[in-house]
Amino acid sequence: MKVHNVEMIMSAVKTEQYPKEGYPEFALAGRSNVGKSSFINKMIGRKSLARTSSKPGKTQTLNFYKIEEQLFFVDVPGYGYAKISKSTSAKFGPMIDEYLVSRNELRAVIQIVDLRHPPSAEDCNMYDFLVNYEIPAIVIATKADKIPRGKYEKHKKIVRDRLQMRVDDPLIVFSAEKGIGMDEAWKEIEGRM
Ligand code: GDP
Repeated sequence: MKVHNVEMIMSAVKTEQYPKEGYPEFALAGRSNVGKSSFINKMIGRKSLARTSSKPGKTQTLNFYKIEEQLFFVDVPGYGYAKISKSTSAKFGPMIDEYLVSRNELRAVIQIVDLRHPPSAEDCNMYDFLVNYEIPAIVIATKADKIPRGKYEKHKKIVRDRLQMRVDDPLIVFSAEKGIGMDEAWKEIEGRM
């Protein structure tokens, strides 16, 4: 998708503030600093619409980005600082958990991981949460520009194995720096709209 028009809706703190358009929604999740804001900005062709490196301990809000009057990206707080215990317990706090579990418009969670490193325990917990609630995932392995192309497959396998990914969930190698994986990511999203 070639994005021309993006509207940053709001920082929603309660259900009544969620958009009412009924457009398909794709929630973005990833541990802090993994490159989630850079992914969003690259995908929507903006330099810095999504805040980069959101600070820990801030109010937990959902930021909705309305794209081309067709869909929403929903930015959820980075989970690196949140204390995560069991895969079925609160990940971000009750509001965001509830959004992920019961939002009708949610088509998939786009989970961002770092292609360079095996997914962390928090990444695995997040993915388990999606499995437990039968929420489809699109896994984006970003910062691909930091490793040689010849090593992609090896690193992809580590990500797939460690997350124990479901066969139907795609894993896409990405780089916000180089634009790698953009078309593939859009194709996956558009295929689920
Ligand atoms: P967030 O906290 O998950 O939103 O992470 P950011 O998008 O703010 O990125 C964290 C850091 O990683 C920043 O210094 C980015 O410049 C860097 N970064 C993000 N994506 C990439 C990428 O694809 N390649 C490289 N080399 N650096 C990246």
